[in-house]
Amino acid sequence: MRRKLAAGNWKMNGLKADLAEVAALTAAHPAPGTDILLCPPATLIAPMVAAAQGSALAVGGQDCHAAAAGAHTGDVSAPMLADAGATHVILGHSERRQDHDEHNEHVRAKANAALAAGLVCVICVGESEAERDAANTLDIIGGQLSGSIPDGVTGHSLVVAYEPIWAIGTGRTPTLDQIGEVHDFIRMRLERRFGPGIGRSTRLLYGGSVKPANAAEIFAVSNVDGALVGGASLKASDFSAIITAL
Ligand code: PGA
Repeated sequence: MRRKLAAGNWKMNGLKADLAEVAALTAAHPAPGTDILLCPPATLIAPMVAAAQGSALAVGGQDCHAAAAGAHTGDVSAPMLADAGATHVILGHSERRQDHDEHNEHVRAKANAALAAGLVCVICVGESEAERDAANTLDIIGGQLSGSIPDGVTGHSLVVAYEPIWAIGTGRTPTLDQIGEVHDFIRMRLERRFGPGIGRSTRLLYGGSVKPANAAEIFAVSNVDGALVGGASLKASDFSAIITAL
């Protein structure tokens, strides 16, 4: 059985004062039946790890460089994330693919660096609205899976998040059938490439406008093992309601 995972992506939001949300969240879920992960901006990783001490909350980064160290001004490496106490890292988020021109091969190189640093990779895939309208969704997802996921993953070092670009921050979500179709497809592709062990133990998250009001129905879809939550992870009350729905 795959343990459910509720992952929050704070994106470029959060100041030290917002760590009060972490205290509220961990107080609300002292012994959660699901795994809980929050990925704050890099500046808050170490203080969030400190704030989460003794709780079940895991902390992750939102990106890492493919190199372990060196002359890369402004970048953060996977060993630095691990050193700050992070256990996970989101890679290939569509905002990075779009804003930073990241392609599958970059995501794969970053994932290799993250694996070498002992981090769990939360690799994001998802189609644009034009790609869905052109009935290309599964082709796009298939290409992102084979291009972005490195060979060296295990069932515990990989999480795949399906995030349709047009559903992120828009309040729009795919139908439950559409979510199920893509998640079943991702599961099939992982099983085919990595075999039944890794294929079946890898957790698949849905992301894109997950809210307390729609979480339960999305979590009931086959092969949905949790969520990657943006806006609704910023407030402990909303994220807590999503965790409870898992
Ligand atoms: P959203 O973002 O929940 O605000 O739509 C999801 C994400 O980008 O991970």
